[in-house]
Amino acid sequence: MSELKEAKTTVQSTTLANMSLHNHEQVVFGFDEATGLKCIIAIHNTILGPALGGTRMWAYANESEALNDVLRLSRGMTYKAAITGLNLGGGKAVIIGDSRKDKSEAMMRRFGKFVNSLGGKYITAEDVGIGTKDMEYVHMETQHVTGIPESMGGSGDPSPVTAFGVYMGMKASANYRWGNDSLNGKKIVVQGVGHVGESLVSHLVKEGAKVYITDIFQDRLEAVVKQYGVEVVDKDAFYDMDMDIYAPCALGATLNDNTLERLKCSIIAGAANNQLADEKIHGEAVMKKGILYAPDFLINAGGLINVYTELEGYNRNRALSKAENIYNTTLQILKISTEENIPTYVAANRMAEQRIEAIGKVKLSY
Ligand code: NAD
Repeated sequence: MSELKEAKTTVQSTTLANMSLHNHEQVVFGFDEATGLKCIIAIHNTILGPALGGTRMWAYANESEALNDVLRLSRGMTYKAAITGLNLGGGKAVIIGDSRKDKSEAMMRRFGKFVNSLGGKYITAEDVGIGTKDMEYVHMETQHVTGIPESMGGSGDPSPVTAFGVYMGMKASANYRWGNDSLNGKKIVVQGVGHVGESLVSHLVKEGAKVYITDIFQDRLEAVVKQYGVEVVDKDAFYDMDMDIYAPCALGATLNDNTLERLKCSIIAGAANNQLADEKIHGEAVMKKGILYAPDFLINAGGLINVYTELEGYNRNRALSKAENIYNTTLQILKISTEENIPTYVAANRMAEQRIEAIGKVKLSY
């Protein structure tokens, strides 16, 4: 076998093996030399509807890191849509590259063509490193896109609705833990003050919380400090701080062996997807430590709600009122977790799986 053939076989078998771990339906790789585009689109499950999930642009160290991320993220979208009561499946895309340096109109339009080739089975939107302007370019090549600018009849940036949903989930967790949902005076660390993190900070500051922020970019920190007068903490040292609430709003897997040893908070509630590095191990570890963990895919569903509303004809108030309901679902999940002595992520997964199963059966009938 030639070297090229061997390399192809290795990638393919690894991908299929990875897909079979969590039953992914389809994974599509896209490459375009002219624009430098290297992307992967993963479709996890389409029982409830077309797979909708954002596109993340990140400078992954290698291809398998990107594949791992897109598989995890797309699965999370299936659960997020299901638990939120939306008729959507789960999918996600990643573009390998530095969004600050490598992105271009041509790249995004080429990506749009890849999305279009899936014929509506996958619908894209923004995620880390991708904004509404990028979606505008994608929209030039496909209709299967949400999160396009409001001026073009879309729902615009979903982040404020995501942040509102996270805020609701955080308040519900506070209510469950402390008997009332006020965040006034609570010490809260927001990790990552990008689109969602900054918007979350604005809700928290308004409510009188003592907010600390951290980020890897100095310009983000300066902008948020200037606007809200919050305090900056070191991006690694903050894990050792005394705090009431930790709000992960950067990337995933920040709840891991290292950080859980150090965290001393009462509640974890944030926007980042896949916060538990290993769902089973760290989901249980969080529970054993007595920390209330608001499942990420439940409380960060505001963005998905927002783009879903766009598919129906956008209305911001409808999106916000659906996102407000995250409060009630969070309370429900925390209650099940306590009553059955199971980690919160297990309770949330189960609720999502029950809906997929029930609706899947309904769809079988004519
Ligand atoms: P963003 O790119 O606008 O912001 C992320 C911020 O995190 C950036 O400022 C980045 O510099 C910072 N960051 C990265 N690594 C960090 C680290 N190690 N320590 C501290 N800061 C770090 O992205 P966003 O749209 O705000 O999304 C944030 C998270 O929420 C992501 O995990 C995303 O998948 C998730 N999420 C976003 C939405 C949405 O509507 N945008 C919806 C659901 C979930």
